[in-house]
Amino acid sequence: TNSETGAPELAEPHLRQLLGAAGLAVEYVRAEGNTLYLRGEEGEEIPVTDFAGGYGSVLLGHSHPDIVRCARELLDAGTPVHAQFSRHPYANRLAAELNRIVHRELGTEEPYFAIFANTGAEAVEAAVKHAEMDRVMRLADLRGELAKAAASARAAVDAGTATVPERLRARFGIVGAMDDATALRELVAHVTPLNEARLDRRPLFLALEGGFHGKLGLSVQLTHNESYRAPFRGLAAQARFVPRENPEALREIHERERGAVFALTVSGGRVDVVEREFPVFCAFLVEPVQGEGGIHVLSGEFAGEIQRFCAEIDCPVVVDEIQSGMGRTGTLLASSPLGLRGDYYVLAKTLGGGIAKTSAMLVRQARYRPEFEIVHSSTFAKDSFSCTVALKVLELLEADDGAVYRAARERGAALRAVLDGVAADFPEQVREVRGAGLMQGLEFHDQSAAASDSVRELAATGLFGYFLAGHLLREHRVRTFPTASALNTLRFEPSVRLSDVELDRLDVGLRDVCRVLAAGDGARLLGR
Ligand code: PMP
Repeated sequence: TNSETGAPELAEPHLRQLLGAAGLAVEYVRAEGNTLYLRGEEGEEIPVTDFAGGYGSVLLGHSHPDIVRCARELLDAGTPVHAQFSRHPYANRLAAELNRIVHRELGTEEPYFAIFANTGAEAVEAAVKHAEMDRVMRLADLRGELAKAAASARAAVDAGTATVPERLRARFGIVGAMDDATALRELVAHVTPLNEARLDRRPLFLALEGGFHGKLGLSVQLTHNESYRAPFRGLAAQARFVPRENPEALREIHERERGAVFALTVSGGRVDVVEREFPVFCAFLVEPVQGEGGIHVLSGEFAGEIQRFCAEIDCPVVVDEIQSGMGRTGTLLASSPLGLRGDYYVLAKTLGGGIAKTSAMLVRQARYRPEFEIVHSSTFAKDSFSCTVALKVLELLEADDGAVYRAARERGAALRAVLDGVAADFPEQVREVRGAGLMQGLEFHDQSAAASDSVRELAATGLFGYFLAGHLLREHRVRTFPTASALNTLRFEPSVRLSDVELDRLDVGLRDVCRVLAAGDGARLLGR
């Protein structure tokens, strides 16, 4: 039961209790710009500076007046929100606008087709599901080619223009005296089921260590965090995780996992069997800036290695821009300045302007399978409300010759300067500052071997970053959180409306946390 109201706690009571322990179980009653207002003990509103930024969904600020107005107008006009299986001009406008911006950033003209969804994880699932449909269709083409190759070998043998050499018969265990036509039949009967068994293998995904791509049945298998992923491994195909910035590992994984089938050929009057590689890897998932993994920026170099590797093995690249994209780092796609070219892009969070729940998956024409449109949909996706709100978001991003992108860069640099200043003054407490634009992380040193008993106790809770966040909220009215999979890293993803006064407040708060840690006063951080 809730200690304040006496009512039973039924909406995730366990989580509520954890938040309570870290001093984070407050209620926010209003949101505006970069401020959330929590309800104080007397019912008063207490402003809190929001660096968690809806975990990256409110780049433009909470309750942006233009977005609120847009939403209100749609509702006031009685716009049909759900009109499935009709023309969706707003969805088409949104897709066109996304294309225009993506083309500008990538310097390409190839169309990207859009499939809409509701959440980030759902758009990731749409992307990998599409990639799997494409892979299965490519496998079907390959089966056709194998059958054709077998048929032309048979024709050559029947016409007496090719033989089945002894060495080949021996390789596949075809023994005894028989004519070439019989030997060929035996050979085909032997390799066809072998090929089928190989082609039937489950696909594999490639993803980066530390990566986060969602928590649904399939997407959670692409998320590296073991505690989220492992219990559900039985639900979906598996990923092989590539250590960050390690191109060697790419080759090793490919060598270990690659798949090949036997294909018949005829050359120089002889039938032969060669191995042909087939696509085992369904997709390579990559975040240009890892969010939940602790704010790690992908290097342009490693992005290039991934790109070359995937081109070599014909594996599509899915660029997950759910947290990093939509202008947060100064461009619509955080990956475009890295030179990374995705076969797929996934966008969500800020796409909905902090009001609509919406996401989109973009897939380039060369990989696109129109059949997907018939087998994939959601009741709620592609609705007029979300699409029109998302269009408004793009309009705001692009307004004034990209003022929001510039602000993300400029405010990002100001935020970074504050974090770097704290790191410079507290090297014993702060391990590293990382990030791009308005997506920054500050990693604290591991405190599990700290001299102070209470700081060690704090580290042993396994919720280190949450307690630091609780302290910042309680004492400094600053809201931040550790990243989901790296609890020593606090994340900072405020809106472009971040002010210098708000930055000062963060500066004071972080320096206080560092001083408390330096003093070994873990009890204070534990809220005692
Ligand atoms: N991918 C990335 C990179 C994310 O940061 C997130 C959410 N943190 C997701 C996917 C999943 O999005 P959602 O929570 O909307 O399912």
